[in-house]
Amino acid sequence: MQVTDQSLTPNLLKSDILRHLTFTLGKDADTASIYDWRMSLSYAMRDRIMEPWFASTRRTWAEDRKRVYYLSMEFLIGRLLEDATVNLGLHEMAAKTLADLGQDFRAIIGNEPDAALGNGGLGRLAACFMESMATLGCPAYGYGIRYEHGLFVQRFEGGQQVEAPEDWLGQTNPWEFTRPEAAYTIPFKGHIEHSGGKDVWVPGESVIASAFDTPVIGWQGKWANTLRLWGAKPTGMFDLARFNRGDYAAAAESETLARTLSRVLYPDDTTYAGKELRLKQEFFLTSAALQDILRRYLARHSDLKALHKHVAIQMNDTHPAIAGPELIRLLHDEHGMEFTEALETARACLGYTNHTLLPEALERWATFTFGNVLPRHMQIVERIDHWHKDEHHSRPHYIGIVKHHEVRMGELAFVMAHKVNGVSALHSDLVKTNLFPELNKLHPGRIINQTNGVTPRRWLKMCNPPLAGLITDTIGDGWEADLDRLKELEPHVKKAGFLKAFDAAKRKNKVALSNWIGTECGVKVNPDALFDVQIKRIHEYKRQLLNILETIARWDAIRQNPGGDWVPRVKIFGGKSAPGYAVAKEIIHLINDVAEVINNDPETGDLLKVVYPANYNVSMAERLVPATDLSEQISTAGKEASGTGNMKFMINGAPTIGTLDGANVEILQEVGAENFFLFGLTAEEAMKRRQDPDHSRHAIEASPVLPDVLQMIAEGRFSPGQTDRYHDLVHRVWHHDYFLVAADFDAYLAAQAATDAAYADRKRWVKMAALNTARSGFFSSDRTIRGYMKDIWSVESAL
Ligand SMILES: *Cc1c(COP(=O)(O)O)cnc(C)c1O
Repeated sequence: MQVTDQSLTPNLLKSDILRHLTFTLGKDADTASIYDWRMSLSYAMRDRIMEPWFASTRRTWAEDRKRVYYLSMEFLIGRLLEDATVNLGLHEMAAKTLADLGQDFRAIIGNEPDAALGNGGLGRLAACFMESMATLGCPAYGYGIRYEHGLFVQRFEGGQQVEAPEDWLGQTNPWEFTRPEAAYTIPFKGHIEHSGGKDVWVPGESVIASAFDTPVIGWQGKWANTLRLWGAKPTGMFDLARFNRGDYAAAAESETLARTLSRVLYPDDTTYAGKELRLKQEFFLTSAALQDILRRYLARHSDLKALHKHVAIQMNDTHPAIAGPELIRLLHDEHGMEFTEALETARACLGYTNHTLLPEALERWATFTFGNVLPRHMQIVERIDHWHKDEHHSRPHYIGIVKHHEVRMGELAFVMAHKVNGVSALHSDLVKTNLFPELNKLHPGRIINQTNGVTPRRWLKMCNPPLAGLITDTIGDGWEADLDRLKELEPHVKKAGFLKAFDAAKRKNKVALSNWIGTECGVKVNPDALFDVQIKRIHEYKRQLLNILETIARWDAIRQNPGGDWVPRVKIFGGKSAPGYAVAKEIIHLINDVAEVINNDPETGDLLKVVYPANYNVSMAERLVPATDLSEQISTAGKEASGTGNMKFMINGAPTIGTLDGANVEILQEVGAENFFLFGLTAEEAMKRRQDPDHSRHAIEASPVLPDVLQMIAEGRFSPGQTDRYHDLVHRVWHHDYFLVAADFDAYLAAQAATDAAYADRKRWVKMAALNTARSGFFSSDRTIRGYMKDIWSVESAL
């Protein structure tokens, strides 16, 4: 296979860009805008992807390889241009060529919209997986929805979150190819007729799923896969007969359904909305994907019983769990396979990744809604449930897919998958013991672990050139595709010269971030302060509240003792709340209120600043992660399935302050306790603690600091214009506090004091930071994907 294109010279690249400027954009260099330059560069890069893309597809067909199909309602891919230049090995040449043309390369990169077709970690994982599968030469397709509007844009007004629609497709998307020939009818509703001893679904409405392909290029351009996103189109022009009768609204019905289906991403992260449109979106994605998979299979094969030898389908959470019944329907109803055989064939193809134990996140559809939208699937689900019960006579009566007039998607996905995986060691254990204990007993060995990872190309090479450069200078190249090689940094961590260079790289990133914060937030921050960063969706279980309470305690302590030996600190927050999540929105408001007071306090000055840039997304993460000193991973133990933000920080040399939750457990194990600020209850202790109905009051009364902090908030110190603004919030901490903020507060304060002491000792800190990078190799998504390929998909690399 071809490695990085050696034939491209700077002159050729320049003429490629100018050719696209003239012939694709229709612009003269004299009048071209930054958009025109960005598009021209994108097309020039895209041209270089075509050869490896076609070659990969040809190879997969020629060698009749097994393919992986990754079904996900979310792909949080972010910007693609810089990623393409890095993976093609053309980054430096592109930057230099644009400079020669009098253009600002960084500004051009920043002109690309951030494709936010996802909410947070789950969608970003899917994006990292796509990149790793391409890098590893794993023949794969990603299947998702081409949302016209991605995750909303966040603004703050008076410190409160305001949502505005996102419009990434408002401009031409240079990375996608329309595939009008790949289109499938997606039926909904209607009724079932019995004819010839068969159940026949007569749908009441339908839409067309139409494909848009984006190539995903792996490291060094050795392999490229396809991300195929489905857009909805109306089936007919519209119903002309009805239109002529004057029934205008009804005539446009199918058009309206099509318009809404792929219009907008649901902005709920780890909560399930129960809305009919969402169920339709899930079926739309899944049915289109499965029809496409069968078409591709049948183009070369005829024996559908051998499907699992050629096809592995992964369900990213339960969102595409309708894949089980839909694949049975296609095999049994449409292709005439016997029901049990269809079921077993489907199961041999399917894998299910569980992402959460939070009960509010587990999808359950009212049988009324489910049966109305998907009447044939309702029948099939019931038949699967009966089959499973017959197969397992010991199955307890309270286990079942359909229970209490609800279809439980977790149970459905479990029964229909040959492997079920959790996303960190701790999480997978909890999936076995707490989430599916009975199903685990019936199917021992089905639940396995695949700890998450992130792609080191985007999350080190691309986002952190100073550190990436230092690593290459120290251990040579090749670590980008073999992150375990970072271990080779360890001997250098003893050397003063290396530590100095490591520190200088971090400082360079911090200076750049300080400048950006100055423009973005209007707050001047000291680049020598400890940059303490918590960026992730705002959720009670992630405990941004714990962090802001500690911030208040710190502020108060500095004011009590202004001459103390304080370590200057910048608290950086980032993240969006689901629009309907009132408690999370209150926490956002509080953080902004506290920032307003602290940032304007001359007594604390540079010793403490709080910044919260609006609209956290992938691009912002790429900016913040390399400049972070301290990574906040402080979720209530037992609630964060894995986390991937924690891994990005570790790779970029930021020690963690964190609980024993999700992949923090494995980070601690890899980096060693002396390089990790551990605090808080364990998952088991947390469960026990909740059995005391007064746990929060007990914890608050025992704390020397927390009562005062809560009192300051309750009195309106941070909301002078409305002193009762946080009454409810404070009341909840005192009397409810399911997420154990109070119980962990003192331990968190102590761990934060330990970070101050460690940071004050420069050499100790830099060494700790460098060891985090050196020991982060395990958290490459290449390692994760190798695990899936071997343990779940049984697929070989084509490289
Ligand atoms: C990595 C990432 C996440 C996931 O962060 P966690 O801390 O694991 O919750 C969410 N959003 C964006 C934009 C990310 O890049």
